Amino acid sequence: MRRLRERKIRPLLAEHSVRKEDLVMPLFVDQTATAPVPIGSMPGQFRYPLLDVPAVAEKLFDAGIRAVLLFGIPEEKDDIASQAYHPRGVVQEAVRSIHTSVPGMVIITDVCTCEYTSHGHCGIVAPGRGGPDVQNDLSLDLMARIAVSHADAGADIVAPSCMLDGMVAAIRKALDENGFSEVLIMSYSTKFSSALYGPFREAADSGFSFGDRSTYQLPPSNAREALMESRLDAEEGADILMVKPAGLYLDMVAAISGFGLPVAAYQVSGEYSQIKAAAERGWIKEKEAVMESMLCMKRAGADLLITYFAEDVAGWLDEKQ
Ligand SMILES: [Zn+2]
Repeated sequence: MRRLRERKIRPLLAEHSVRKEDLVMPLFVDQTATAPVPIGSMPGQFRYPLLDVPAVAEKLFDAGIRAVLLFGIPEEKDDIASQAYHPRGVVQEAVRSIHTSVPGMVIITDVCTCEYTSHGHCGIVAPGRGGPDVQNDLSLDLMARIAVSHADAGADIVAPSCMLDGMVAAIRKALDENGFSEVLIMSYSTKFSSALYGPFREAADSGFSFGDRSTYQLPPSNAREALMESRLDAEEGADILMVKPAGLYLDMVAAISGFGLPVAAYQVSGEYSQIKAAAERGWIKEKEAVMESMLCMKRAGADLLITYFAEDVAGWLDEKQ
């Protein structure tokens, strides 16, 4: 076997590789910000004011990034997330500005309410059998309304992340009825209730005021249930499936890539911050660790790599040549 790994031979036989086109960069757009706000728990990441969005998108596009995933932080929150579907909402405005300034960029929008509700949950909350909880069917119309408002602003792909039953079917129906049959749905189809989302909650100001998200996100112990979630979303009409987080759940990426639809792997904030923190201390080499994490997502079967390292990875791919 070692003949295969001779220095000159080895690159010829690489089974997988990372391309710039695989990368999706998440961006936080903050309606309350007047200058980029550094995110303390995610060194090197910022919340950007709307005015900066075109320049940020242009810089990414120049680096070879072809897709962004937008999250919004609104000026005001309420119980029903009314700013999430407002035609002049923060994400809708960000979509318009990228659409105009960088027409070649694929614009993906996160469709959820947790950044927009005062309670921080992913839907309408009402009393349930086990106490206050997200009401599934009551929240579906809201998700559909948010998705349509994003499509109307010019989003290419809407990405529901709420893990509600029936969210993909509800959104597909609403998009089609409103003339957006060409807009894709990338479903956060297999999303685990993970400890690795911690830094994101500071980034997106989406911490919750009570309970947790375990009544809608998957338990890390359950693979069969996780596959069923993606299978149902595929049946409801999802165009792209997703596994989130990525690194600890590569077995799920591998299994779901067998379904026949493209799969996105989301390397989440906690995965980003772990690498950053260890690299800052000199305990691991950042570039090597990041590139290995990218390659392993590809090896598992991911088509798209959603990662806060996207711009760095694009730069490192340039260095190689
Ligand atoms: Zn959410």
